[in-house]
Amino acid sequence: MTQNNFHTASWLNIPEDSDFPLYNIPFGMAILKGNKKRAVTRIGNYIINLNSLNQSGFFKNTFVDKTDIFKQENLNSFISLGKEKTGIVRNRIAELFSEGTTELKSQTHILEEIIFQPNDVKMIMPVKVGDYTDFYSSMEHATNVGKMFRDPENALLPNWKHLPVGYHGRASSIVISGTPLHRPKGQLKYNDNPNPLFGPTKEMDFELELAFITCNNTKLGESISVDKAEDSIFGMLLFNDMSARDIQRWEYVPLGPFLSKSFGSVVSPWIVTLDALEPFRTKGPVQEPEVLPYLKFEGNKNFDISLEAVIKPANSNETVVCKTNFKHMYWNMAQQLAHQTINGCNINSCDMYASGTISGPDAGSYGSMLELAWKGQNPIQLNNGESRVFLEDNDTIIIRGFAAKDNLRIGFGEVSTQVLPSIPL
Ligand code: CA
Repeated sequence: MTQNNFHTASWLNIPEDSDFPLYNIPFGMAILKGNKKRAVTRIGNYIINLNSLNQSGFFKNTFVDKTDIFKQENLNSFISLGKEKTGIVRNRIAELFSEGTTELKSQTHILEEIIFQPNDVKMIMPVKVGDYTDFYSSMEHATNVGKMFRDPENALLPNWKHLPVGYHGRASSIVISGTPLHRPKGQLKYNDNPNPLFGPTKEMDFELELAFITCNNTKLGESISVDKAEDSIFGMLLFNDMSARDIQRWEYVPLGPFLSKSFGSVVSPWIVTLDALEPFRTKGPVQEPEVLPYLKFEGNKNFDISLEAVIKPANSNETVVCKTNFKHMYWNMAQQLAHQTINGCNINSCDMYASGTISGPDAGSYGSMLELAWKGQNPIQLNNGESRVFLEDNDTIIIRGFAAKDNLRIGFGEVSTQVLPSIPL
């Protein structure tokens, strides 16, 4: 087990409400001056170049010592070391920046190669995503969508409380925060016309989700048990699964979402380790009826993570449109991974598994415009006097998340994307 005995004070100045205290130490990839791609972490408002730390000998006696693992295209090799080894590196980073530790602080001549300001770097995709699965694990979200798309009386399908429903998504269109997305075109089918039309979606939506990243490979035929699943989960990031609802409604029967989702999903740049989230474990909802033995679990496998979504129209202020919490999820990550592999499906390090839209029980806690504005019936009022039923061109949608308890705050930063007009054929 990785130790979490971090000092809380650093010799770097960390604002009190920072998402990135010394206890966090998330991992990301950045382009630094000179166009160098480097693995980085963030402490307060500082970006730390892990390769420079390593080449200067600060990771002696660890598995990464003097290797090129922090100057690759992505974090895949690092994450694939496994949680025990990456946890040692994370602890060492925290130690180097702890108050009272001078071995790095005293080397003032090298600090400018190690410590950067966020504005001096460009964050890029932290991993090359292998396979990508999108689950559908919020009961509130599945119920709301079932009511709107199918049958209000039987909103949840009979399988929903017996297995974590999911589908295999598109990895190639998962992009880093800040990447704008053009409004997708496709087949649109409306009730007032028996035939589908073709054009830009009129129902551009976001989905507020978290995703986890795996850190090992399994062989075809092997399964991961619920008890062992978290050993295979390196960490989590914010995930916005952008969705075109009119395309989705027409295409999703019988095999599930296809082009309504694959035009772009956006992730936050920082992978927050599961180790950093340990203090925020909590109980999930009671699962009734009882699940099959391979999905039974012990202990607290949900996490108390506050989440919000905001819409920022062009040249305007932000409006918070949703406040929700990851703890509401009916199916937890360990169950999701156990279910993914129960048939012997092999997984690889740096696969990505999204939670599904995280809706809470109240109307203000729904994680998509489809639910917030209830299929267009209840427009959402924005601070600038406008209203929205779906996203409009040039709107920016931002999702933020953090966990907080006993003066400890572990944040994810944010994931942001702007909706651009459709590209004409
Ligand atoms: Ca989704």
